[in-house]
Amino acid sequence: MRIVYDVKEMQEIADKYRQWEKTIGFVPTMGYLHEGHLSLVRQAKKDNDVVFVSIFVNPAQFAPNEDLDKYPRDIKRDEELLKNENTDFLFYPTVDTMYPNNFQTYVSVENLTKVLEGASRPTHFRGVTTVVNKLFNITKPHRAYFGKKDAQQLIVIKRMAEDLNIDIEIIGMPIVREKDGLAMSSRNKYLNEKERKEAVCLYQSLNKAQELVDSGISDTNEIKSQMENVIKSYSIPKIDYININSLTTLKPLDRIKRKDTLISLAVFVGKTRLIDNLWI
Ligand code: AMP
Repeated sequence: MRIVYDVKEMQEIADKYRQWEKTIGFVPTMGYLHEGHLSLVRQAKKDNDVVFVSIFVNPAQFAPNEDLDKYPRDIKRDEELLKNENTDFLFYPTVDTMYPNNFQTYVSVENLTKVLEGASRPTHFRGVTTVVNKLFNITKPHRAYFGKKDAQQLIVIKRMAEDLNIDIEIIGMPIVREKDGLAMSSRNKYLNEKERKEAVCLYQSLNKAQELVDSGISDTNEIKSQMENVIKSYSIPKIDYININSLTTLKPLDRIKRKDTLISLAVFVGKTRLIDNLWI
């Protein structure tokens, strides 16, 4: 695996593979890798001739009160994990490389980013779409892989790609979970032992929602209130939001719509904010 720090160099490598008519698969990450990230790398390996992974903790998607400085990092371990997956190139730029002094151009998707995560984190998606756009221009992939764990991010990026005629196939991949059902996340590292045990409440509440949907209940208020009860049966977690929205418009739904429903929630477990979701 070759590690590339420089934008021009990464672009030249991408150009070469394109000239050789090889397909490029790209997996953008913020590092501190786990099985969720690696599942994207494996799919990219299967689908493409060459795989580029990026590791960049993107300041533009963190608000000043968020965890940018303490976001977990372990580049040596990440390198080993990526080598084991036969990753071809790791793009690992610095903040100055990505955002030089005179940087002033942002990409923003309008309506889809005003709800859910966007309502709790108003500047977040502008940072995400901007950096993903830059990374697309740097790695020039044919296909890019994103986890359904960050459901709204995936939906927003698909919208951006379509709206801006970005000629890249955006592929959404299933959520990878720990044995007890907790969605894997770099932020799980923040949890102490007790919090880690209680963090399973997000998954349990989604299970409850699935059970209710399977039993024919479609009233979303009923489902949300039962999900809330599940979370409230734990001692530490505090709900930020529980929402049920259309997968295409992200507008709230009164009733479950088969194949077009996203049930999502954000919960504070101690100081750590965790998200999870279910695609119906
Ligand atoms: P991050 O490093 O958190 O920015 O995540 C990089 C990519 O990995 C994003 O597309 C995430 O949605 C995806 N990802 C993170 N956690 C998981 C997971 N548990 N299962 C599947 N994909 C994930």
